Amino acid sequence: MKKYFLGLLLYLFIGNAFGQTVLSPDANLKVAVSVNDGKPVYEVSYKGKVMIEKSPLGLVTNEGDFTTGMTFIDKHEASVSKRYVQDKIKASHIQYTANELTCNFENAQKKKISITFQVSNNNIAFRYEIPAWGERMACVVEKEATGYKFPSATTTFLSDMMSPMTGFARTAPSYETGYQAEMPLKTTRPHPEGYIFPGLFHVGNDGWVLLSETGVNSLYCASHLSEISADGVFTVAYPNPKQNNGFGSTGAAIALPGVTPWRTITIGDNLKPIVETTIQYDVVDPLYTASKPYKYGKGTWSWILWQDNSMNYDDQVKYIDLAAALKYDYILIDALWDKNIGKEKMTQLVKYAASKKVSVFLWYNSNGQYNDAPQGPRNKMNTSVERKKEMKWLHDIGVAGLKVDFFGGDKQETMRLYEDILSDANDYGLMVDFHGTTTPRGWERMYPNYIGSEAVQASEMVYFNQGNRQTEAMYATFHPFIRNAVGNMEFGGVFLNKYLNKNNQGRSQRLTTDAFELATSILFQNSVQFFALAPNNLTDVPAFEIDYMKQVPTTWDETVYIDGYPGKSVVIARRHLDKWYIAGANAGKEVLKLKLNLPMVAGKKVEQYNDDAAKATFHKTTDINKNGELEIEVQPNGGFVLVQK
Ligand code: CA
Repeated sequence: MKKYFLGLLLYLFIGNAFGQTVLSPDANLKVAVSVNDGKPVYEVSYKGKVMIEKSPLGLVTNEGDFTTGMTFIDKHEASVSKRYVQDKIKASHIQYTANELTCNFENAQKKKISITFQVSNNNIAFRYEIPAWGERMACVVEKEATGYKFPSATTTFLSDMMSPMTGFARTAPSYETGYQAEMPLKTTRPHPEGYIFPGLFHVGNDGWVLLSETGVNSLYCASHLSEISADGVFTVAYPNPKQNNGFGSTGAAIALPGVTPWRTITIGDNLKPIVETTIQYDVVDPLYTASKPYKYGKGTWSWILWQDNSMNYDDQVKYIDLAAALKYDYILIDALWDKNIGKEKMTQLVKYAASKKVSVFLWYNSNGQYNDAPQGPRNKMNTSVERKKEMKWLHDIGVAGLKVDFFGGDKQETMRLYEDILSDANDYGLMVDFHGTTTPRGWERMYPNYIGSEAVQASEMVYFNQGNRQTEAMYATFHPFIRNAVGNMEFGGVFLNKYLNKNNQGRSQRLTTDAFELATSILFQNSVQFFALAPNNLTDVPAFEIDYMKQVPTTWDETVYIDGYPGKSVVIARRHLDKWYIAGANAGKEVLKLKLNLPMVAGKKVEQYNDDAAKATFHKTTDINKNGELEIEVQPNGGFVLVQK
């Protein structure tokens, strides 16, 4: 007995002092978990360099505190290997291999809790697993201690969480503030609302860290990063109670046994693992089966240039004809169609579109009860009774999908609404696109009829604001590394109008080149893309640009980082079936001279779309040498595309 007790003491001492560790399969990424003075902590290193310093773990529930007074009990190790096919993200055939460590802890009241880490070569996903505590089979998770303390040389690429009930018709937060590049940790501005997921961190000369979360469904709230604490820690924060007009919860109500969403950390000594990560999808599974095969593709969208006035029958016919001329599958008919077109004429319009082989997406207001967004249709998506009636009608007249806008925030109530809309829509064979919304969190894989979300300072801001036109190229170079790295992003881009208005003259001059705009069709990834082309573009831009826009795919089998730095430039390659598309953009003020290494098209011919020194867009056939090397110049506010021939 005495011997056993000593052994146990020794075990606890070693366990607590040296911690439990788990390595990635290639042994470069390491997570060490320990208990410091009753507080569970973890530390992350990559190739021997500390990327996240000792940072807190733990939860506070209404059944007890699991952040202090904690004891390590034991651990369980496993390996995870999973191969899956996904049809609408940055890659299609994915092999996920990770080592798993589950640490079991006990709090001062002898209640148990576990933390499971899955560590793959460049990613960590971890979550809390809460058992039933005796007869207790439900709890409320009130807050989370999970934190991230970066080495002091780190700079941040963060976007503010918007203050609740602010902005247009009190619709914030809608994840529509831009990212600020390269802020030193010490001068990261105080922002009481914190920062949205994802957040990107440049850890001095040692590498990059991208933080986000995945697997958030109706059973939890979405979370974000707190502002940085005095001791330099960003913490996982739950929604501000003032969201949703102050109604509803923060935190999460869960049944026991239960789990939290996965907190994700993507790490590399360069940006390649950040651009190429699939961790958002690796640790989640489909929550239901697709009721039919959903088809992704391209669409037209009048609202972005012709605005509210175009929500009438005749203008929508013009955009259906544009979609048909471009051989696009879809048209998106935006807000106010209920008043200005009406259900009866919409039935005719959908039939007319079908006669042109074009299918219709229709806009809906998500609310409701939590903001003042006046656009209709309203009160159709927020109750199960109205939603099913409306979706039956949409199904019966042959609509393809919905764009649902103006959500109330990140509370669990809103996560339920997202899931209810998706799940009901699948019953009626409808796809769903979210705007005025949060970042998707694994939803491409979890919900088979989900196509993508806005959650970005999108093309509408470029249309509305001179400031956004001036920064259009800079923001474009953020997305493949940050927002679009963790989920489908509906930007609604590719303007070929020289002036961003219906008449294409006078005011709101576009500052980017045509080749830049063409490049964004590849740099920005979404399974269905509603492009900002207008009927006049069929005749007022060079025919080769329209031919390009007819054939660019929206789904990808592979995505590869080639070059770039967020805020400065970006070059990425994407493969669709056996054809590579390589796109780049330059946000700098000087001509960018690049020596690219493109093994995927070595010895092959590509069609090059680029700008000359006068910023006129041209195309030509280019031979890539046997070594896959290409020297290329990219104009300021310009871009390029190479399409394998
Ligand atoms: Ca928006």
